[in-house]
Amino acid sequence: MQLLDGKIVSQSVKDRLKVLTEERIQEGKKVPHLAAILIGNNGASETYVGSKVKSCAEIGFKSTLIRLDEHISENDLLFKINELNDDFDVDGILVQLPLPKHIEERKVIETILASKDVDGFHPESVGRMVQGLPAFYPATPYGILLLLEHYEIDTIGKHAVVIGRSNIVGRPISIMLSKNEYPGNCTVTVCHSHTPNLKEICLQADIIIAALGKPEFLKADMVKEGAVVVDVGITRVADPSKKSGFTIKGDVDFDAVAPKCSYITPVPGGVGPMTIAALMMNTFKACAAKD
Ligand code: NAD
Repeated sequence: MQLLDGKIVSQSVKDRLKVLTEERIQEGKKVPHLAAILIGNNGASETYVGSKVKSCAEIGFKSTLIRLDEHISENDLLFKINELNDDFDVDGILVQLPLPKHIEERKVIETILASKDVDGFHPESVGRMVQGLPAFYPATPYGILLLLEHYEIDTIGKHAVVIGRSNIVGRPISIMLSKNEYPGNCTVTVCHSHTPNLKEICLQADIIIAALGKPEFLKADMVKEGAVVVDVGITRVADPSKKSGFTIKGDVDFDAVAPKCSYITPVPGGVGPMTIAALMMNTFKACAAKD
């Protein structure tokens, strides 16, 4: 069994971007600039946005963090996004999800200019991705592809089983893995909360992408010998022994599943850091598109 180490691979992606950014500076070109909007005081969101801003600094990107009150009206938020859309210096805009209940996520996503949609959630980005046109790929699935590519995982003709069909992970990764390019050319089965015979389907999988948000859901008796397992899940589970009061659990029962796998991602340190690396790649591309 070999770990698919997201920390190492994300660092190498960021190192590469750092070199490319230094080259841009030497050539007198624009420095990539990510603007992140954080609404309210959600602890997990604070952590994610903090890591994104820190990665920008590491690479040499400019970043702007905009903190907004959790009671901000939808109109005021959309106004702020439009200001960023109009600001030439800003290349990428991300609005950290989840949003407060009174704000409609769809409206927020659709207000971000498609050319600055570095999270890849805008319907235009998704449509372009589905049709194989140049597009911002959603960061988490894109990060998974970068990880598979780095370890030269053989995907061609393999059966990939994706558990979960959300717009941000399950559905886009299922489309990406079925594409006629590498990493891809898989036969893909998408499973969800209404899939009756999940265990039998998982047992046929060469590659399993677990993205359902149920801690330690994927057990050893659901995985065939030699499978590649990618664990997307991040759930905070109460743990009084920890200073923070919680521990992070993935969707895979790692200790039991890992010995059966050829490759497996750990949680933390697998898909999480790759999501940030992919976001940085998208921000760089958004900037370079203005050259
Ligand atoms: P979601 O709640 O939007 O979707 C979950 C999906 O899982 C749904 O499509 C549902 O049909 C399916 N599902 C639920 N229970 C199931 C079951 N028993 N059997 C089969 N399918 C089932 O979740 P999401 O936003 O896609 O996130 C999934 C997990 O990935 C969460 O833990 C989330 O925190 C994590 N996540 C991690 C990253 C990262 O960077 N590592 C990024 C995004 C999401």
